[in-house]
Amino acid sequence: MSGILVLAEHEDGSFKKSAGELLGKAAQLAASVGGDVMAAVVGDAPAAELGALGATKVFQVSGDFAAYDAAAMVDAWHAIVQAASPSVILASAGYVGKDALPRLVARLGTGMGSEVTDLRADGGAVVGRRPMFAGKIYADVTVTGSPAVFSVRPNSFPQPSPSGGSAEVVAVDASCTALTQVVETKAPASSTADLTEAARIVSGGRSLKSSEQFDAVIRPLAASVGATVGASRAAVDAGYAAHNEQVGQTGKTVNPTLYIACGISGAIQHLAGMRTSKVIVAINKDPEAPIFEHATYGIVDDLFEVCPKLTKAFGDL
Ligand SMILES: Cc1cc2nc3c(=O)[nH]c(=O)nc-3n(C[C@H](O)[C@H](O)[C@H](O)COP(=O)(O)OP(=O)(O)OC[C@H]3O[C@@H](n4cnc5c(N)ncnc54)[C@H](O)[C@@H]3O)c2cc1C
Repeated sequence: MSGILVLAEHEDGSFKKSAGELLGKAAQLAASVGGDVMAAVVGDAPAAELGALGATKVFQVSGDFAAYDAAAMVDAWHAIVQAASPSVILASAGYVGKDALPRLVARLGTGMGSEVTDLRADGGAVVGRRPMFAGKIYADVTVTGSPAVFSVRPNSFPQPSPSGGSAEVVAVDASCTALTQVVETKAPASSTADLTEAARIVSGGRSLKSSEQFDAVIRPLAASVGATVGASRAAVDAGYAAHNEQVGQTGKTVNPTLYIACGISGAIQHLAGMRTSKVIVAINKDPEAPIFEHATYGIVDDLFEVCPKLTKAFGDL
């Protein structure tokens, strides 16, 4: 067993940003721990393109996997792992990484470091760093089973510069049995990235006072910076934002490069979902609001004054 296998996800014929992030990191790790940088592709996607992002070999199970089914995905991944025989597997901690990946780990009889935000090589092993207890502490995790599996939060690593190379594609036969049937799929109204994968997020809190004001202040600001909209639970419970927009302990865990919190106090349950954001900008009229303890930049002012100005300024760029 050797090499690092990246489970590369794709949508509508294009690879997700996370595939590049993981391949870039895999190349760095492989330079220390040795072995090839490999990728696994399930379904019909331009597998050879992953060569430009650093994969030397791509194992592909072709077929119609458009309607996601965890059991079929695990069957396909398992066949690829048998063919590639990696010592380390990296996957994105999106919904597939949360749903299907633990089942693969169970089938392989190995262990997994979940939702890590950093990876490093140490003495020939890969060590993952994962936030615990709502991001209050970090644990360094090694996996004693083999292969060592890690799910990685999106936006944890930069994209590699495309090399223009193309990878050898190895077709893998797999017998995949779906255990569910998708009856209907509804696309979300918004075309922005899913919160868990978004690189930029603008969130609003209870202070918006109505869904009309949330729509008039938060959504235009998000649009002006190409961000996905998030919300505190108080804003969601009050009906200002949709449930799938909630960030936090009982909402989504996000890891963007930019998180703008507008009129959000910074309760521990909200921080649990966004604390690992790279740059946090807090807008709050209370200088004592706990969110300022975690903010990279703070603006102490009325969000109804500040946000429209920011929207205009960003829109003018
Ligand atoms: C089990 C459990 C799970 C929970 N899960 C979550 C979760 O997943 N996500 C989550 O967010 N919360 C969660 N909560 C709720 C959490 O404890 C807080 O109640 C919630 O995050 C508060 O939301 P908020 O910051 O919008 O509202 P508030 O705490 O009311 O804060 C509003 C903030 O806006 C500021 N403000 C008011 N007007 C303005 C203005 N005009 N301009 C600028 N600033 C202004 C105020 O100074 C204040 O800081 C959970 C709670 C429990 C018990």
